[in-house]
Amino acid sequence: MEIIKSFEIKKEKQTVETEQVEKVRCLILGSGPAGYTAAIYAARANLKPVLYTGLEMGGQLTTTTEVENYPGFPEGIKGPELMDNMKKQAERFGVDIRIGIATSSDFSQRPFKVIIDDNKTILADAVIIATGATAKYLGIDAEKRYAGRGVSACATCDGFFYRGKDVAVVGGGDTACEEAVYLAGLCRKVYMIVRRNVLRASKAMQQRVLNAPNIEILWEHQLTDLFGEEGVEGAILVKKKGTPEEEAVKIKIDGLFLAIGHTPNSGPFSKFIETDAAGYIKTIPGTSKTNIPGVFAAGDVQDPHYRQAITAAGSGCMAAIDAEHYLAGLESTT
Ligand code: FAD
Ligand code: NAP
Repeated sequence: MEIIKSFEIKKEKQTVETEQVEKVRCLILGSGPAGYTAAIYAARANLKPVLYTGLEMGGQLTTTTEVENYPGFPEGIKGPELMDNMKKQAERFGVDIRIGIATSSDFSQRPFKVIIDDNKTILADAVIIATGATAKYLGIDAEKRYAGRGVSACATCDGFFYRGKDVAVVGGGDTACEEAVYLAGLCRKVYMIVRRNVLRASKAMQQRVLNAPNIEILWEHQLTDLFGEEGVEGAILVKKKGTPEEEAVKIKIDGLFLAIGHTPNSGPFSKFIETDAAGYIKTIPGTSKTNIPGVFAAGDVQDPHYRQAITAAGSGCMAAIDAEHYLAGLESTT
């Protein structure tokens, strides 16, 4: 009895250990346009990619409705549908798509080590990081209430829906100015809601805002709430919050754009992979190569400027081709 019991325990332990460590050729982290595109190219190049989706399967586009600027869809396409199509296309070529998030990594030696969900170790010959970036929100309830119904974090993506209407942009940095100027070309009126009495943006961007006749800056204002029946119809602001001159202000708007920064999802890799001060992974210009040969980055996690689905997909393609060349080089030397 005793002997059988201890044998069972040993067997169980061995099974657990072997299940927790797995060797793969090409590991892709992220299931946005960058991750799925990298996966399609890597699978077609016979790299047998394993892709972990992260918490948000399909990435940022699953949080939006119409995508009108992704080429190939003359009538536009719903974000979740586009991402489901990409997933199906990756599956068609045999990509091993799994649910899980990379929680830490060790790129100090090969094969590279990536820990999934804190309990599984993947050893990979090549890694493609396509974990995206997350737009920062103010954290007020109204943002959730009106998500996809008047609240957006991307003017290039959603500005078109507000042609001839009145909108507001929150933020005072380069992104907010750029978005405000872009929207000013489409909308009747653009308010910029700026929490201080200065803009953080560069002088050149500030000048472009000041030159636009239909942009009005609401200095020292903070957004506290939104209202509207079907979608956003207006916003409640507080002027000079916390001072004796504090007052509530109501503006009528049809859409609200958040432009208070993005957080690149590079945390689990930042011990080994070089990033800029904001956390965006640095790549060698014109490539997807990071400071570690064999580790590549694609999409918004390495892109502080464009942050579009098509640029993410394009850089995913680059990463898979770079990984293919890297692996071919490895194999020719062994
Ligand atoms: P993401 O789409 O951000 O995907 C990142 C992926 O990484 C996710 O699957 C996530 O689960 C995964 N992940 C994160 N951390 C980990 C981890 N630790 N381990 C494993 N996986 C992880 N662009 C356009 O071109 N047109 C539009 O109309 C448009 N509309 C938009 C509307 C909204 C509301 C938003 C927020 C963005 C919009 N964009 C649009 C921008 C576009 O969505 C992004 O540029 C694009 O999705 C970036 O793709 P990506 O693959 O780099 O990352
Ligand atoms: P950013 O420079 O960090 O600016 C964020 C802005 O949002 C700031 O004005 C900040 O206000 C405001 N903000 C932050 N949290 C807020 C909150 N809770 N409530 C209200 N306002 C809030 O971010 P960014 O504009 O996205 O730019 C990121 C980087 O990319 C910068 O280095 C920028 O120069 C660069 N960039 C360059 C260009 C270009 O050159 N064309 C375009 C876009 C971005 P405070 O100022 O009060 O902190």
